Amino acid sequence: MTLQQISSFAAGKWIAPGSGARTIASAITGEPIATAGNDALDVQAMLDFARNTGGPALRRMTFHERAKMLKALAQMLGSRKQALYDLSFDTGATQSDHLIDIDGGIGTMFVFASKGRREMPDGQVYLDGDVEQLSRNGTFLGQHVCTPLQGVAVHINAFNFPVWGMLEKLAPTLLAGVPAIVKPATNSCYVTELAVKIMLDSGLLPAGALQLVSGGLGDMLDRLTCQDVVSFTGSADTALKLRQSPVILQNSVRFVAEQDSLNASILGPDADPGTPEFDLFVKEVAREMTTKAGQKCTAIRRIIAPQARIEAVIEALSARLAKTVIGDPRLETTLMGALVSNGQKVDVLAKADIIGQEAERVFGDPNNFDVQGADSAKGAFVPPILFHCADPDSAQRVHDTEAFGPVSTIMGYRDLDHAIVLANRGQGSLVTSLITHDPNTARQVVLGAGAYHGRIYINNRDSMKESTGHGSPLPHMVHGGPGRAGGGEEMGGVRGVKHYMQRTAIQGSPEMLACIGGTWVPGAAEITGPAHPFTHKFGELSIGETLHTAPRTVTMDDIEHFAHFTGDTFYAHMDEDAAKRNPFFPGRVAHGYLLLSFAAGLFVEPNEGPVLANTGLDGLRFMKPVGAGDSIKVRLTVKKKTRRTDEYGEVRWHVTLTNQNDEMVAEYELLTMNAY
Ligand code: NDP
Repeated sequence: MTLQQISSFAAGKWIAPGSGARTIASAITGEPIATAGNDALDVQAMLDFARNTGGPALRRMTFHERAKMLKALAQMLGSRKQALYDLSFDTGATQSDHLIDIDGGIGTMFVFASKGRREMPDGQVYLDGDVEQLSRNGTFLGQHVCTPLQGVAVHINAFNFPVWGMLEKLAPTLLAGVPAIVKPATNSCYVTELAVKIMLDSGLLPAGALQLVSGGLGDMLDRLTCQDVVSFTGSADTALKLRQSPVILQNSVRFVAEQDSLNASILGPDADPGTPEFDLFVKEVAREMTTKAGQKCTAIRRIIAPQARIEAVIEALSARLAKTVIGDPRLETTLMGALVSNGQKVDVLAKADIIGQEAERVFGDPNNFDVQGADSAKGAFVPPILFHCADPDSAQRVHDTEAFGPVSTIMGYRDLDHAIVLANRGQGSLVTSLITHDPNTARQVVLGAGAYHGRIYINNRDSMKESTGHGSPLPHMVHGGPGRAGGGEEMGGVRGVKHYMQRTAIQGSPEMLACIGGTWVPGAAEITGPAHPFTHKFGELSIGETLHTAPRTVTMDDIEHFAHFTGDTFYAHMDEDAAKRNPFFPGRVAHGYLLLSFAAGLFVEPNEGPVLANTGLDGLRFMKPVGAGDSIKVRLTVKKKTRRTDEYGEVRWHVTLTNQNDEMVAEYELLTMNAY
């Protein structure tokens, strides 16, 4: 049988395996299927290509342009899913595992594409937080901004998710404007190679934005600078070795690590057998043990249940695990495939033996189990194995030994505080779940265990139908955990994009800040012209374009009319004595909404024009009461523009209402949709 030649993509060229190449075996048959790696790979040329060609091209694009590119890449991968599925079976993964890895990865890319367009500017500078007032008169302000790092992101991925593992790192990296060099784990790199080929062949990526190392990285990490990032997923041992490399320490190279952890799931004290929560718990634990044959960084390794319920949980869980059909993942009837390699099988069984020194095996026998459609002696098959640890307080190995397969340990707790102590014995994990219907139990667990866990997943009868599963990291939510889990954070929406950007505190005048951020700030220059800004199309409007209106006097008749017309006869508008007793008002005052309505009446241009709709209002503050006889006027300024489609875009207007003494009475931001 000819072996597939798994290539690297380096400095614009596909490089076939060469000296130092490793052979990759099928997880199902144990037979060699591919070869990957080349010691002669020119890693410096790769870094140069990324830094000098890919980075500048990506940085010339706006966040929105990069988001659009991500969406198109995700669509392209989606159109070739079947080819990726077909290849992936040899990693031991079933069709439902492919949905997590391949569809999950593509879905993650779509979410980043959407977040990039909705939550990031159509520009090159991301504003992080609000303007800070650093001076009494507002002539000297502060603003945090994020700009893309000018180096390269080196992504070192684990074998278990050859597609999702790449895309969950690649999407935020490209959105930030940083090129990536992807190094998948060699055991499953043939799937990643195809996904990379699909993306490169699409022609959607600028040259240098994406490169691939199939096989070893050589001394690439020794050539990194302060502008580069290493994002690593894999074992704690490798993470420790890589992050303490002198160059990484000396150059303060960002090192994001997501490594194996001893995740837990807690059955709440309220969840007795017969409740929906008890059944849900058993279902979630069994699913986490068997999905991807337990090779998930988020899989449940420790099952923490009330002492009095241990037997019931073991019984129910064993009954469920007994239904797991193990076999060739290509067979539709197979529910659990193989581990990625026979090397992993040896490792998992060795770790299970270590756990077995402190716990009794209550389900699953690695020497006696059925395998459908494959030879259990040749493929990397392991059955689900459940241990029971009777004394989790004095045990140590069950809390620190990760068997990266379908292996979990159940342990009993006396009360909720004890459950929290046990969950935290993992010394930092990616996720802990809690199955309870009692909000106070949930609150107690979050307060007691939050510091040790990157994510806490709470589920019960109310949320179970729509919940996403203990083991699924979501692009919207942070993935990563403290301590043993690596101390890193990935994803979490725009937070994940910021890992590839530098946050800089900018201090200067309003004019400086407005120009840098592409967003008007009070005090920056106003552009006033003869034409009303509402007559300008989206593309014609300038940041800072301002309208100052004529004043309008508010009368008691206006207040009375508005009160009776709307039904808002709150005493502060209607009863002079009662209003005076209120510490905020000098007497009867105009309704805030009356002022807003008058403001609109003052600033609108009534004729049909490019303003299509008023879509919202943000940050409304009333600062000073307005009474009968006061007059108000409006300043309306274009603060920010965001393109939405080729036909229209959103304009954010800064609006202030001032009285006859030029004192600010109200401030808000108005959103309109404007035609191009
Ligand atoms: P490793 O930590 O050995 O490998 C992870 C990645 O690091 C792979 O891409 C690997 O490449 C790469 N790597 C290894 N050594 C170096 C090096 N010196 N320089 C640069 N890159 C390097 O994990 P494994 O994949 O072998 O899995 C071992 C264990 O890790 C599992 O049994 C499990 O406990 C844990 N694990 C945790 C995961 C998680 O998601 N948290 C995922 C997978 C594994 P290569 O494959 O070419 O060696």
